[in-house]
Amino acid sequence: MDHRSKSNAPVLDNFWMPFTANRQFKATPRLLAEAEGMYYTDIDGNKVLDGTAGLWCCNAGHGRKKIVEAVERQLRTLDFAPTFQMGHPVAFDFAAKLAANAPGGAAAGLDRVFFTGSGSESVDTALKIAIAYQRAIGQGTRTRVIGREKGYHGVGFGGISVGGLVNNRRMFPQIPADHMRHTLDIERNGFSKGLPEHGVELAEDLERLVALHGAETIAAVIVEPMSGSAGVILPPKGYLERVRAIADKYGILLIFDEVITGFGRLGTPFATDYFGVTPDLVTTAKGITNGTIPMGAVFASRKVYDGLMVGPENAIELFHGYTYSGHPVACAAGLATMEIYEEEGLLTRAAGLADYWQEALHSLKGLPHVIDIRNIGLVGAIELAPRDGALGTRAYDVFVDCFRKGTLIRVTGDIIALSPPLIVEKDQIDRIVSTLADALKRAA
Ligand code: PMP
Repeated sequence: MDHRSKSNAPVLDNFWMPFTANRQFKATPRLLAEAEGMYYTDIDGNKVLDGTAGLWCCNAGHGRKKIVEAVERQLRTLDFAPTFQMGHPVAFDFAAKLAANAPGGAAAGLDRVFFTGSGSESVDTALKIAIAYQRAIGQGTRTRVIGREKGYHGVGFGGISVGGLVNNRRMFPQIPADHMRHTLDIERNGFSKGLPEHGVELAEDLERLVALHGAETIAAVIVEPMSGSAGVILPPKGYLERVRAIADKYGILLIFDEVITGFGRLGTPFATDYFGVTPDLVTTAKGITNGTIPMGAVFASRKVYDGLMVGPENAIELFHGYTYSGHPVACAAGLATMEIYEEEGLLTRAAGLADYWQEALHSLKGLPHVIDIRNIGLVGAIELAPRDGALGTRAYDVFVDCFRKGTLIRVTGDIIALSPPLIVEKDQIDRIVSTLADALKRAA
């Protein structure tokens, strides 16, 4: 196969890279040229085992023919059509397919689907739906949305207003924040396997914020059932149930941000299924098209949808939408993705690997600088003690080392996050963990 040689490498100046130290990267770039199955190939022809499903999105692995063919067919048939005041069959087909496999199953009733172009757009959409719903049912003073410290809900202005990662917010101090505490408690929960035992009391923060602001000002609370981008923070046992109960008590809608946990990451189709807690709105993206074509979707309960279907029948019920809501090519990619997930049992495959994954990850306990290990489904985190005065540099060095040795991991601060495609085999899990172990030893 032809790979671009170094002399033919791209000019790096112009692409302002997202969430990247541009100057550092451009001095020592890592460029991926191809992908197939569990592997990337870099521009020099080196194979890199994908330990992160791209960016938590390529759940069925790379280069899936079924998706390629569906996209090609759709581009030839109908490349684009609006979904404002008109439509096309593939968007309705995909919405029906998603609805038939919606979070929580039929009983949850989360079968009304609003299409977006990304996770950030899904979050902004869900926040707007929540506030609009409250207004439609005569609760117009409920305009506040509660998020959590360390929450990540994308980078739209709506998403950062409820997000709680300091770096994402600090440039925009004008955006008000109402946050529940949601901190890692390594002292009490360190190296716990699966859900932590301690910390359910953090859910009571919702009561505190209700007391502070008044329930009549609060439209919704948004949480990631499992926080991925903050470095894999798992909900303590009973926590989500408690948040749901408090939200119900005060007429507050509950939004689950399942952009990462949606489509099989935890070993159930959605985290909603894993925890048996039913929210009112669920945001998704990433795995919805196996990462191939940008897309997101918000699942809304019938209660929420019906609440907004009021007023004159010829009036637009929700003034919201994107040019690319229900893009035909994205929907075709999504339909093909769902077929693969079904045929290969990928939405539950992580459940069968979870124990193996857990033991493999926890074998890293005791290696230099490892201060915590966390896991759920096919997600893992290894937290390192930061270097004095140089936060994040230790994990970054491990990331670069692993990449050189042919394994892709992800770092956020000094936390290493792992989330391989759901097609991963046990020997590939071993390889990810042994590459990481060697890199950790070298970092010492
Ligand atoms: N919500 C969550 C929970 C996420 O993890 C992410 C992305 N990692 C987003 C929203 C934003 O998605 P996107 O980058 O597609 O806008």
